[in-house]
Amino acid sequence: MSTDHGATFTYTGGPVAVSERTREGLGRPVLFEYDPVYLQRFLDVERRVAEVFHTTGDVVVMMGEAIVGLEAGAKGLTRPGMKALNLVSGIFGKWFGDWLRDLGAEVIEIEVPWNEAIDPASVERAFAEHPDIRLVGVVHSETPSGSLNPIAEIGPIARRHGALTIVDAVSAFAGTPIHHDEWGLDITVGGSQKCLGAAPGLALVAVSDRAWEALRANPAAPRSSYISLLDWKDRWIDAGRQKFPHTTSVADINGADAALSELFEEGLDASYARHRRAANACRAGVRAMGLDLWVTDDAAASHGVTAVKVPDGIANGDVIAHIRAKYGVMISDGEHGPMTEAVFRLGHMGPASRSLHPVVALAALGKGLRDFGVPVQVGAGLEAALEVLGS
Ligand SMILES: *Cc1c(COP(=O)(O)O)cnc(C)c1O
Repeated sequence: MSTDHGATFTYTGGPVAVSERTREGLGRPVLFEYDPVYLQRFLDVERRVAEVFHTTGDVVVMMGEAIVGLEAGAKGLTRPGMKALNLVSGIFGKWFGDWLRDLGAEVIEIEVPWNEAIDPASVERAFAEHPDIRLVGVVHSETPSGSLNPIAEIGPIARRHGALTIVDAVSAFAGTPIHHDEWGLDITVGGSQKCLGAAPGLALVAVSDRAWEALRANPAAPRSSYISLLDWKDRWIDAGRQKFPHTTSVADINGADAALSELFEEGLDASYARHRRAANACRAGVRAMGLDLWVTDDAAASHGVTAVKVPDGIANGDVIAHIRAKYGVMISDGEHGPMTEAVFRLGHMGPASRSLHPVVALAALGKGLRDFGVPVQVGAGLEAALEVLGS
């Protein structure tokens, strides 16, 4: 089952399948970027992105994959010799530490097994031992592991100790609550292509006033650069939002505008509830099928993606290819590093968290594994998921 249009159903760790409305948004006329209609649309996108971050401060909508926002934040806030605390519960956290070290920071790392969440008490202890920590890096939802870190607790600890915090909230954005101001975060990065359900191509960045001060005071912070937050501050935000620092990705903004309209018509709380319900349904389904969840503690589980341990003796890549070829359903492996072969991932971000999609994802995984001889209780899993979705 393969067509030019790809899989019939896409339940991956992102990019996700977008809604009809977002697709129509992406297909709107590509206007001159100073056409008043487009300029207003850009402002509307910025304003609503700020609402998703729950910030009254500045947001920068950067053109490029979400990584560009993380790199802008890391390069902007890190100074050689600075003591930084990096919290690692998966591959994105691990990579962030590599960046900090490359930038000359003295990095203290707290690493937990990649199926667990960071314990806020360990962050408190790190500050007790190293009161000179000035920067904290942490991932909100570790997408390759399907886990979630307690940013609501970690952010205020860092703030209390006078450290700046950079949060990779790429796959949490719009699916899990983020309170940039209340939690005392400084640079928080969201992505367009995960729970928001838009196309990949935008990095959504919330920047606190403290972060702006630190960026300005850092001679190493990028300036006159594609990854410069300060360029956006000086040339766009503080200059009255008349001229962009460089050409913006008109089609991607058009798409994000449509996805944000859909999100706000539904309501943020309803979106959080929808993602959580889909996660709960997948978790109940996996357990009832007799399979093992990668993250066993429900409180530490991502709301956007469910990671399932690969049964012994099974090559997940073969099963994924079989599910795609035979049933037209696309699911993910762990995608990066040691996670790649450790898990299957059922993505339920954006439109994939709606309706009975979690049941289809579970059916595909369950039946796919049974085709490989794994004794999976597919029916029991679907019943359990339906129970959650119907409650
Ligand atoms: C998706 C994602 C990113 C962006 O990186 P990709 O290159 O799209 O994988 C960054 N961090 C997290 C946690 C993500 O889920």
